[in-house]
Amino acid sequence: MINTNEVLKKYGLKLTKSLGQNFLTDINIIKKIVDVGEVSSSDLVIEIGPGIGSMTAEIAKLAGKVVAVEIDKNLIPALNENLGSFPNVLVVNQDIMKADIKELINGWTGPLKVISNLPYYITTPIIMMLLEGDVPWDILVFMVQKEVALRLAGTPSTKDYSALSIAVRYYSDPKLAFTVSKNCFIPKPDVDSAVVKLKKRELACVQDIDKELFFKIVKASFGQRRKTLLNSLGSQGWLDGGKEHLREVLTKLGIKENVRAEELTIEDFARLCREL
Ligand code: SAM
Repeated sequence: MINTNEVLKKYGLKLTKSLGQNFLTDINIIKKIVDVGEVSSSDLVIEIGPGIGSMTAEIAKLAGKVVAVEIDKNLIPALNENLGSFPNVLVVNQDIMKADIKELINGWTGPLKVISNLPYYITTPIIMMLLEGDVPWDILVFMVQKEVALRLAGTPSTKDYSALSIAVRYYSDPKLAFTVSKNCFIPKPDVDSAVVKLKKRELACVQDIDKELFFKIVKASFGQRRKTLLNSLGSQGWLDGGKEHLREVLTKLGIKENVRAEELTIEDFARLCREL
């Protein structure tokens, strides 16, 4: 196991809070995260933000290939040294939001997994980029702030259920794997974290819908989540027929008039979308 404090001292590294640099120092947690990814020698694993390579090394022991994309050029010398004994690791000094991921995985025909202790300042944009984009991933494993993890894996009629939960479910089957204490990091973050696993859906769970309208409906419905759907979605200027039409559609679908967004499943939203 890489000794984080020793590496930071050796390279004179100062960690940058604005880049979400909280490094994992607990080898058991690192191994548990890699386990969640079910990594095998046929996999290519992309690690977003390898830091000084503590998790990268554990992934590299199991994966066919690892592409580690790190934005901070100051970490690259330490990364190269710490991972020097793994010929299957490619370290790339790029911003993941700007990287051409398809080019980085060029030619790989086996399963593709992304494993990351995500930089917290950019968690949702990275997740949405992977969910909505055309990178052919099979499994995503993310460590994120616990409250975000709960929203990612949120289920109907819970306070964590949100537009983000629906977006995640649209593309994947999400599972909350385990929580991680803030004491497992250097420096210690303000909040605890949790690991989620998103497995690609073989078949879309909702079909024959206008995807753009679907997400517009979901966002408007959760935009004012305390209100009933009639008052949140029903008051949108772009909704054909307005509140009255929405009331008729709810009745037709057998959904109660005073329903709130958080009570509706993704399939309910799909039914609404087809009718609206
Ligand atoms: N994987 C290491 C670990 O678990 O100890 C470090 C995780 S740390 C929470 C997040 C890492 O992501 C940092 O190394 C940070 O520099 C890097 N990072 C931040 N923004 C990034 C971006 N846009 N693209 C790639 N890496 C980024």
